Amino acid sequence: MLIVMKSDATDSEIQAVLRVIEDLGFKPHSMPGATRTAIGITGNQGAVDPSHFENLAGVAEAIRVSKPYKLITLDLRPEKTIVRVGDATIGGEELAIIAGPCAIESRAQAFAIAETVRRSGARFFRGGAYKPRTSPYAFQGLGEEGLKILAEVRDVYGLKIVTEALDEAGIDLVERYGDMIQIGARNMQNFSLLRRAGKSHLPILLKRGLSATLDEWLLAAEYIMSEGNYQVVLCERGIRTFAQHTRNTMDLAAIPAVRRISHLPVLVDPSHGTGKNYMVTPLARAGVAVGADGLIVEVHDQPDHALSDGAQALTPEQYEQLVSEVRAIHDVIVPAPVS
Ligand code: PEP
Ligand code: MN
Repeated sequence: MLIVMKSDATDSEIQAVLRVIEDLGFKPHSMPGATRTAIGITGNQGAVDPSHFENLAGVAEAIRVSKPYKLITLDLRPEKTIVRVGDATIGGEELAIIAGPCAIESRAQAFAIAETVRRSGARFFRGGAYKPRTSPYAFQGLGEEGLKILAEVRDVYGLKIVTEALDEAGIDLVERYGDMIQIGARNMQNFSLLRRAGKSHLPILLKRGLSATLDEWLLAAEYIMSEGNYQVVLCERGIRTFAQHTRNTMDLAAIPAVRRISHLPVLVDPSHGTGKNYMVTPLARAGVAVGADGLIVEVHDQPDHALSDGAQALTPEQYEQLVSEVRAIHDVIVPAPVS
């Protein structure tokens, strides 16, 4: 059930609707919009009777939702969500750029790369302290020490820190040191982790699973939102296909497909989306051209010596070139406001 309030509904009328929903034993999700507030209802197993709401003051409509998702949809919130990460945003007019190494390897490495990222004008620094590796013998990340290095990067360079949590205890730690929690592709359907992310005060970057359909991905976002965290950013990072020329196939069509259904911002990850250094910039251009709100990209000061994902890491020079190219494309798509 979705309650659409009249455009002139007062605060107390909205509060009264929220109370009725709670009294029925359900959870209300109030989404104030540019023209009206909508209230999503979760926690109900069967259909909710619209007559509970239709005659309440300030209610324009009580609509049955037939789709599997309730909170991620444009029905609930017709305008795009702008996710705020401190004073930086994702989903607004500015192209969001999240850049940094796959893994934090040392303080010197992180600082060298952060210098480049800062210089490019990007607002976000990425880097894993906890790495989900295919082999248990591969470098697993520096753990909390890596988070401490990231926190220093934030203090020195003013960059917002985006870093992955592999489990619930990891979320506790990232909340202490970071600004945005990445849920990785392999964890997209780790439902207890999604629920914990939904209770966090930090925004969530939700990667698409390696073989996730659009619905599965959006429902993973729905899990997070159903717990009350509405600051979710989706990220297309490539899926498994029969292709052998790439590590993953970056599904560019996912961007307009998400846009048609959801108000959530969506990024592309051309690094994991291709796995190959020479493909990262062309696919970054393509991602921005099809309407992504930004990108997350791996950069390393010494790609040949990277402890993970070196083959897809850009050199600082390549990264700087990428940023200027994607900004030029974004400027054409989103014309600057006339002053
Ligand atoms: C990463 O960002 O380094 C990463 C492991 O991403 P994904 O979950 O998309 O593989
Ligand atoms: Mn990586």
